[in-house]
Amino acid sequence: MKAKVAIVKCKNYERIEVEQAVKKAFDLLGGIGVFVKKGERVLIKPNMLSARMPEDGVCTHPEIIRAVVKSVRGCGAVPCIGDNPGGSISPAKAYEGSGLALLAKEEGVELKEVKGIKVVNGIPIAAYFFECDKIINLPKMKTHSLMGLTGAVKNMYGAVAGLHKSELHKRFPSAEEFVKALIDAFEIVKPSLVLMDGVVSMDQAGPAAGRLRNTGFLIAGTDSVAIDSVFAELIGMKPLDILTTKEAYKRKLGEADLENIEILGEGIKENLVNDFNVPGKPGLITVLGPYAKFIARFIKFGPDIDERLCKKCMICRDSCPVSAVTVNSENSAIDLKKCIKCMCCHEVCPHKAIELKRNFLAKVFGL
Ligand code: SF4
Ligand code: SF4
Repeated sequence: MKAKVAIVKCKNYERIEVEQAVKKAFDLLGGIGVFVKKGERVLIKPNMLSARMPEDGVCTHPEIIRAVVKSVRGCGAVPCIGDNPGGSISPAKAYEGSGLALLAKEEGVELKEVKGIKVVNGIPIAAYFFECDKIINLPKMKTHSLMGLTGAVKNMYGAVAGLHKSELHKRFPSAEEFVKALIDAFEIVKPSLVLMDGVVSMDQAGPAAGRLRNTGFLIAGTDSVAIDSVFAELIGMKPLDILTTKEAYKRKLGEADLENIEILGEGIKENLVNDFNVPGKPGLITVLGPYAKFIARFIKFGPDIDERLCKKCMICRDSCPVSAVTVNSENSAIDLKKCIKCMCCHEVCPHKAIELKRNFLAKVFGL
């Protein structure tokens, strides 16, 4: 049977526009009642990368979350919201700074805090992910400096609590190793339903410092891999060029072949996004096969702190898994000999003060 993915237009984040679009997306899949039953506890998992306000386009927009909270309640189920931001940022701070604390107050919905960790196959997951009956995944359509794109599959890495995320980067320093841990996490907390916020998306230096794009749609389905494959097609990429999609597809965790995906609602061809600039194409270097290691020696890239923008908040320093960042009043710097290029510092900097510097060869290989 083909995987089903619905694409629905949603022009902006006006409440009524979002509610109608979310309902349409779920109805195309058979209605929310197919996935959520009366009395169930439903964890809504947005992308809450950091304490960034809705207009920054970094986190899933609160109006999308509100519409899903209402849909879940409409089934007689009990919603709650939970995510773990990047690096050293606490969930409480991110809930407050992203507008989710206000939303939770207005809707009377519980925000989850990490009260325990459950380690499954070596992956430390926030215990509350196992205390619900269903998970609804609400990713944001963005680029990602390490993985190329962050979509439905990558969003479930937020189940890994706090600085454990950085620790996993340390344990699995290359993108090829890290993606395996990331897919392990996805497999443990695989969601029942996915709704991607592509109303305003982010390209270039995502997931936190990129360019905002008014792409104007939602993408929904039950198969996270199929949704990311449609995301890739919409921006003119091949699904299997995305490391997370490739690994998840290899493990048979979802569909990446467009021949086996039924598109509902809007078509892909009519909604192609022009010029969606993806910074890293990690798959490209692998085509070099046995020469990859030799050429990789001459490729130089890594994070760099822009002193003019840095506000000395210390978040990057506290989030770095290998203590490669020094921040003080005179000077802030990154020791590239220690740095494992996990890009956590770039993700968590609230002031867009960390950029990825590349030499000529790195640019040639799209790194
Ligand atoms: S680079 Fe960014 S995260 Fe690091 S101290 Fe400066 S402002 Fe804070
Ligand atoms: S300095 Fe390097 S290792 Fe540390 S967080 Fe930044 S990219 Fe990761």
